[in-house]
Amino acid sequence: MGGMSIENNFDIDLVLDQVAEAVAPYPPAAMFELAEKGFATPFQQLVACIISIRTRDEVSLPVAEKLLAKAPTPAEMAALEPAGIDEQIASCPFHERKAAQIHAIAVAVADEHGGTLPCDRELLLSFAGVGPKCANLALGIACNEPFISVDIHVHRIANRWGYVQAGTPEKTMVALAEKLPRRYWIDINRLLVPFGKHICTGRLPRCSTCPLFNLCPRVDVGSYR
Ligand code: SF4
Repeated sequence: MGGMSIENNFDIDLVLDQVAEAVAPYPPAAMFELAEKGFATPFQQLVACIISIRTRDEVSLPVAEKLLAKAPTPAEMAALEPAGIDEQIASCPFHERKAAQIHAIAVAVADEHGGTLPCDRELLLSFAGVGPKCANLALGIACNEPFISVDIHVHRIANRWGYVQAGTPEKTMVALAEKLPRRYWIDINRLLVPFGKHICTGRLPRCSTCPLFNLCPRVDVGSYR
């Protein structure tokens, strides 16, 4: 593996410490922000994650907050019916499909699980519209269960660091599960989402002012600023 010398020099504790400092001035990743605002049940986190799929945080966050304030429990969400949910989330892409998926989950939880969504990964993944990213993020935040949620930011940055060499977010998730210390499994998403939005951006990352400049091998980074 070509990454060997990189890995030996790459101190993940030091790196994540510096990332935490670097992202302190920026707003937290959407799902963590919602949890801080009191929307922290597995059901609420799952609904927010479905709303956020292919949607910018700036759009999805206020929409999720508004919907969850109106219908904080599965029973209340089920009572809204798909049309009522759709009305609330109409500014998001794929809102009709998302409304149907959220309604189906609410009905299933209200009818079959006593009104509370359990911290059960298999169950979460069995719902239409819920993939590993949303299941892991909801379990990590709402249940404090250590699962790694890898979105496009976590994927890009872990590969630029040479910490993993993986072609897809799913493969990055598997590679991180093998080497990232468990204590960082939830925080990696909380730290790298704002870091990826504001510093280690997709195009023209801000390497020249990045606190990791001297530690980071910048794998496959072409131009930077
Ligand atoms: S040095 Fe560049 S590539 Fe490396 S973490 Fe910083 S911004 Fe990202």
